[in-house]
Amino acid sequence: MPYKLLIFTCYGGCATGVAASKACIRLWEENVDEVKIGCLPAVIVPWKLNEIKKSEKRILIDACGVRCGAKLIKREGMPVDRYIELTSELGVRKAKQLPSEDLEEEVYKTVRKEVNALLGKTSPDEDIEEKELLIAFGTDDGKNLNDDHVGMAKYFYVYRFSDNKGELIEQRENVKFKGDESIGHGDPEKAKATSSVLQGVDALVGKKFGPNLPRLLKKFVCVVVRTDTLSNAVEAIHNNMSRIVEAKNKGQDRKHIVLRP
Ligand code: SF4
Repeated sequence: MPYKLLIFTCYGGCATGVAASKACIRLWEENVDEVKIGCLPAVIVPWKLNEIKKSEKRILIDACGVRCGAKLIKREGMPVDRYIELTSELGVRKAKQLPSEDLEEEVYKTVRKEVNALLGKTSPDEDIEEKELLIAFGTDDGKNLNDDHVGMAKYFYVYRFSDNKGELIEQRENVKFKGDESIGHGDPEKAKATSSVLQGVDALVGKKFGPNLPRLLKKFVCVVVRTDTLSNAVEAIHNNMSRIVEAKNKGQDRKHIVLRP
């Protein structure tokens, strides 16, 4: 019997590479009758490649922009049904270290989403994710939204919205921005820096967005709130959760939302 879905990953020696390896093992364990990890180096062996090609579907995950896996399968002629390059997908830089638990979870969810799509399944907890969103607000002082573009905020206050409640769970310093103030508005590196500070966040809220809005929209629901205070902005989000969930479910094709409390 051919395998239903083979998962290949580059097993790179970096945070996203290790997280991808763990995610693939977990997904194999969870879908033992349908999913199997494929041996990526084996694609250079002709008879192994023939066996691999008999699988119904294949997905390849590269852990960084060097894209070794993509180059290898192109050279050897192995087609795949889905391809993910994790640093671009998650908006993070390659880090030569072990992954944090948050990153492991994020990589797992990213790969699981594609695996489930290929298997024609919905994750049992995808409904729960829709009801519980992490939403970041750009602020310089913890009381008001910052006046400049949201990516220039000193802090991101992260709230968890669930069961119609919003609670502050984390204050993240916009460290990447502070560390490189030469980065200008609209610079793709700035969008990447903002995305990396906001790992795991579903939506970003601010008074203004800059020219990086299209890039940020690929990662987050982006919400402009025409108000000064953080408390008013939290309330506006609270009153418009269905719009935010709808935008989240649209994925990369979403448009930004403007709220006037
Ligand atoms: S794609 Fe990046 S992480 Fe993966 S093997 Fe190549 S260099 Fe390493």
